Amino acid sequence: MDKQEIKQRIEALRNQINYHNYLYYVKDAPEISDKEFDELFRELKRLEQENPEFITPNSPSQRIGAEPSPGFEQVKHKYRLYSLDNANDGEELVEWYNRVRKTFPEPEQLTFVCELKIDGLAITLTYEDGNLVRGATRGDGQVGEDITTNLKTINTIPLTLFKPVNLEARGEVFMPIPSFEKLNEKRRHAGEPEFANPRNAGSGSVRQLDPRITRERDLDIFIYAGTIEGNSCPPTHWETIKYLRGLGFKTNPSSQLCHGIQEVSDYCNKWNTQRFDLPYATDGVVVKINDLHKQEKLGYTSRSPRWAIAYKFPPEQALTKLIDIQLSVGRTGAVTPIAHVEPVKLAGSVVKRASLHNADEIKRLDIRIGDTVWIKKAAEIIPKIIGVNMTKRPPDTQLFEYPQTCPVCGTPLEREQDEVIYYCPNHTGCEAQIRGRLEHWVSRDAMNIDWVGESLIKQLTDKGLVKDPSDLYALTQNDILSLERMGDKLAENIINAIQESKNRPFYRLINALGIKYVGKETAYILSQNYHSIDELKNANFEEISSIEGIGGKIAASIVNFFQEQHVQDMLEKLKAYGVKLYEEKTEAAKSLPFAGQSFVLTGTLKSMERNTAGEIIKKLGGKVSGSVSKNTDYVVVGENPGSKYDKALQLNVKILNEDDFLKLTE
Ligand SMILES: [Zn+2]
Repeated sequence: MDKQEIKQRIEALRNQINYHNYLYYVKDAPEISDKEFDELFRELKRLEQENPEFITPNSPSQRIGAEPSPGFEQVKHKYRLYSLDNANDGEELVEWYNRVRKTFPEPEQLTFVCELKIDGLAITLTYEDGNLVRGATRGDGQVGEDITTNLKTINTIPLTLFKPVNLEARGEVFMPIPSFEKLNEKRRHAGEPEFANPRNAGSGSVRQLDPRITRERDLDIFIYAGTIEGNSCPPTHWETIKYLRGLGFKTNPSSQLCHGIQEVSDYCNKWNTQRFDLPYATDGVVVKINDLHKQEKLGYTSRSPRWAIAYKFPPEQALTKLIDIQLSVGRTGAVTPIAHVEPVKLAGSVVKRASLHNADEIKRLDIRIGDTVWIKKAAEIIPKIIGVNMTKRPPDTQLFEYPQTCPVCGTPLEREQDEVIYYCPNHTGCEAQIRGRLEHWVSRDAMNIDWVGESLIKQLTDKGLVKDPSDLYALTQNDILSLERMGDKLAENIINAIQESKNRPFYRLINALGIKYVGKETAYILSQNYHSIDELKNANFEEISSIEGIGGKIAASIVNFFQEQHVQDMLEKLKAYGVKLYEEKTEAAKSLPFAGQSFVLTGTLKSMERNTAGEIIKKLGGKVSGSVSKNTDYVVVGENPGSKYDKALQLNVKILNEDDFLKLTE
């Protein structure tokens, strides 16, 4: 074949693969065997490998294999994604209908489309000439995050449409319940924390920085809206959905065109009872006016369209017996009461444990062991006890005395002012906290150490081999071999996995430290502002709290953390064992013009938004801070500057006007 023929063959293969992918994943009606499909795919990959100049970002071969990214780019949506007003019961649904009737008094004119509201992550997909160019999260409706590479791994999202159109499609990515249960089972075995519900699991998976993890998670999508550019836009929502389906999108087959509010209400009632038979989670029904001209006439409030409403299914409740209340101690020492109840079916799953929140809540509801209690499962939280059925209280129940000491180490519990949660203050001696910190250290979003899970950590701490994460790095093969049921090969794998984790990116290390209130997002922000543990340790409260996205509560927690003796000891040991406690600056980053310099922006700039200026500074290697201190190198002053300008004069910090600044960035 000459190059032209190869190119044609590649294009033909892509079309075939896209088509069969569509039949298999979207229509669930394959026409060829898996083996035949694999053969097409292999031929495509081979031709692309031999002729890399023909690889395009939307080739089916590009669904997999992208490298992890340090964060997501922000994208401004072309069309704003509104949120919907809620109707919490049938009455509120009718109220919405009556508001619509003020504009359209003739009820026979009105048709509605009812769609199940999927409990997932709202996203938008942009296609140009039928090619997927971008996928983004909804975000705040105006600005979202670019998650294109992750979305490409979802087989039900077409990379190329059946027609070369320009459009924006909106939908909900979700994790089907069977996949959710499989994932949690896997995590249980690996000693990793389980996800509370499919929604958390789904949105967590889509927002993975590593697209390969997203791919493993087995996600799906329903498309429920689209803005089609050009003349091909159908006149109704129902027709639009049909049109989108014809382009290769997966839409929800349970959607229904309804004539009159009675049919809408029937639809809501029907799915309220049948929803638990579905393989995905739904928490309500979205009701939309079908006619797009009528939609336009009804328009929008500042937050939401007037032509649609989200009817919420009533929360599921069940009665069961409270067997026991146990306290669980987390890695920060926080104590949470957990209710053990007689197994009861609730919202499609069997519940054995429920949340009780805190001591005050137990007292307020006067919950006693032996009581018959109401438990409730709202869409997005684990079941909780909401009340006691007093008529069923046995005569011999006792007021529940909240324990005054830690159930694990016996230390008296403490509670900070204005906090409802009790803490075990024995940070260095409490087994539960020691194990919790180790489990967090090895977890996937932290140091990600394979082979070391809950049960191994228990053995290591029981034997006194490990007291804090730094001790992991001193373990020898013989230490590991002294544990029960341990073989040479496994011991070697464990040691290798631990040693291999010494060079994790800096933001993972910050997350792994397990500072109270500092999760992976905050860790990432901190890593953008500090490049070593020493820098972070020496930062003061003022400085940390002035960072965009970090408040006073977090800053105080960070400062306190580094003052603790056991933390300082651990950091010394980590350093001694060769764990990397800093950001490896690439040669390129070191030579950036603003490297190591700190900027503060104040006032209105004429040529750009302040955010944009901040982005430019960061791109050139500088830091942007929210307040002026003696560590500030430059204050960039626009029109009507605030008190930061005065502070800069006071501290004699170099002041740049907009022109100076622009010159500096050239
Ligand atoms: Zn304790």
